[in-house]
Amino acid sequence: MAKHSERSREPKAKREQLINWAYRGVWVAAALAVAFSQRDVIDDVAHALTSKTEAEKSLEETAHTVLGRNILVHCFDIPDKGSDPSIKTRGEIPVIPMTNKLYPIIRLDTVTCERLEMFMDDPSTGENESVRDAVMDISHELSHQQGRDGNGELDESLTDCYAIQRLSGVAQALGASETFAEEFSRKTAEVYQRNVSGYEMSAECRDGGTEDLDLHTYGGNFPPVQFG
Ligand SMILES: [Zn+2]
Repeated sequence: MAKHSERSREPKAKREQLINWAYRGVWVAAALAVAFSQRDVIDDVAHALTSKTEAEKSLEETAHTVLGRNILVHCFDIPDKGSDPSIKTRGEIPVIPMTNKLYPIIRLDTVTCERLEMFMDDPSTGENESVRDAVMDISHELSHQQGRDGNGELDESLTDCYAIQRLSGVAQALGASETFAEEFSRKTAEVYQRNVSGYEMSAECRDGGTEDLDLHTYGGNFPPVQFG
């Protein structure tokens, strides 16, 4: 009887050990899967720790001025998404898996960073459409991070509405004078429209609308709203 129970205990212990290993294997596989899916984020951080460019340092200071907290800025060649040139990715922010939270990272296309450098060197280059768009791009990405009240925003249309309202402050954080930045923001709001699905301005993106951040720059600068 004693022998029999010892024999049966042995395979039971082995089975438990196997189950333990299986559990560990699942955890290791899950950790590897997360690491694999987030390898771009690991890349962003590794880049920031090892080889940050002068432009990235300046843009991180800009981000800190606007948001009051630290954000990583990574400039690299972001691939086009699709064949439509109007939806070329000029900036993006990675999302933490299974949450609606954003990593404190702003990715900008190399070309966008070069144009932002031009603006930082000489804000009058903002009269050039491509430089103006680059300033809107960083304002857009910063507005994703900030949202309405610091909790982030994933909706593109809302983010663009916040971005145009923050444009004057962003331009000033990039080195423009208040007078120049206000005029730059007003002019941009007059002509700004991005006819890309998901980015269309809502009718609430207006002075006194529900998307008004009440920043009191020129009573709120808003883009021409597209109805219907
Ligand atoms: Zn966006």
